Amino acid sequence: MTFRSLETADLADKRVLVRVDFNVPMEGGVITDDTRLRSALPTIHYLSSKGAKVILLAHFDRPKGKRVPEMSLAPVVAPLSVLLSQPVLFGEDCIGEAAYKAVAALENGDVAVLENLRFHPGEEANDPAFVTELAAIGDLYVNDAFSAAHRAHASTEGLARLLPAYPGLAMRRELDMLDAALGKPVKPVLGIVGGAKVSTKLDLLNNLVRKLDRLAIGGGMANTFLAAQGHDVGGSLCEHDLGDTAREIMASAKAAGCELLLPVDVVVAREVKPGTATRTCGLEEVKAGDLILDAGPATVERLLAAMDASKTLIWNGPLGVFEVPPFDMATVAAAKHAAALVTAGKLVAVAGGGDTVSALNHAGMAGEMTFVSTAGGAFLEWMEGKVLPGVAALEV
Ligand code: AMP
Repeated sequence: MTFRSLETADLADKRVLVRVDFNVPMEGGVITDDTRLRSALPTIHYLSSKGAKVILLAHFDRPKGKRVPEMSLAPVVAPLSVLLSQPVLFGEDCIGEAAYKAVAALENGDVAVLENLRFHPGEEANDPAFVTELAAIGDLYVNDAFSAAHRAHASTEGLARLLPAYPGLAMRRELDMLDAALGKPVKPVLGIVGGAKVSTKLDLLNNLVRKLDRLAIGGGMANTFLAAQGHDVGGSLCEHDLGDTAREIMASAKAAGCELLLPVDVVVAREVKPGTATRTCGLEEVKAGDLILDAGPATVERLLAAMDASKTLIWNGPLGVFEVPPFDMATVAAAKHAAALVTAGKLVAVAGGGDTVSALNHAGMAGEMTFVSTAGGAFLEWMEGKVLPGVAALEV
């Protein structure tokens, strides 16, 4: 993948349309977590410092092509201004008269946020007429919203076809890290896939077994594999109807030379409750009514050894019901060990998708990984080996 580099762009006096992810959690018009605003700061600072007029484009929530006042982006303006330590202007619309006015008011280095792209049906439809209207207010296009790159929308794909297009700094780092984890990783590569169900991760598993040297399967989804091998998983979460699928994945892994690491022991309980009585046992000792809620110590030991023997780790999904201690034991132990190896310079560890970020935060280790993607759906689609339209459109 080759991209234009912002460092080589002539930015002074240019109107730069920057697609950011400002789809922040909000309650009553107040942002409850500003991580996404913070992620956009390096690119905004960079463009502003080079004398560009920075025009931020984003969506918020799902207004479905209509102007919904509660879904305005206006509430991000003040917090963004505080984070940037500079004034931020607001345009009441992202196209037309209001957008022109907002952009015309910008001096070099100034920043504006334009109103929710999804107030227009043309955004999600990637309507060429809407793309043309957006492009009319900019000279260059920067995409810094990897989390929206799995959608071929006007602001994520269409604009890159009309204006000189660049990945922003956060997008660039995400792409570099994903490349280091799965594109061109240093081998051997270990994957950890956990979480609830096999059915939501079929494409993911099928792609990973073709690419990785080892793949550890944990969480509820491991139960489906254990059952497919003939083990009794008691009353555990298990997709019994996916036995054939699980066996096919095991066969693909074997054919591709990917060693599958399934649990060899488990932690069971009768209910999912903090402080409930637990039992650690081998696979043959799971009784009717037992719920497998975490991997056992022997399984964890083997996983940590597999990390020691690897140079790259890619991780999606918790290894147990990490929200309810003590069923966070395997997830926390794996996170701590990965973090120690990263700190020692022995492992590149990239994690993301779904509950993985909260699991790593729970372990207190999110900051210790080489990279943690908060992109959710886009990260998973990339792990599935799919082409992300918003990334493909940036390639030169
Ligand atoms: P996912 O969104 O597919 O990554 O699934 C994450 C969820 O899987 C978390 O809420 C975990 O509590 C749940 N989970 C992990 N292991 C198990 C298990 N053994 N039984 C039931 N749920 C599990």
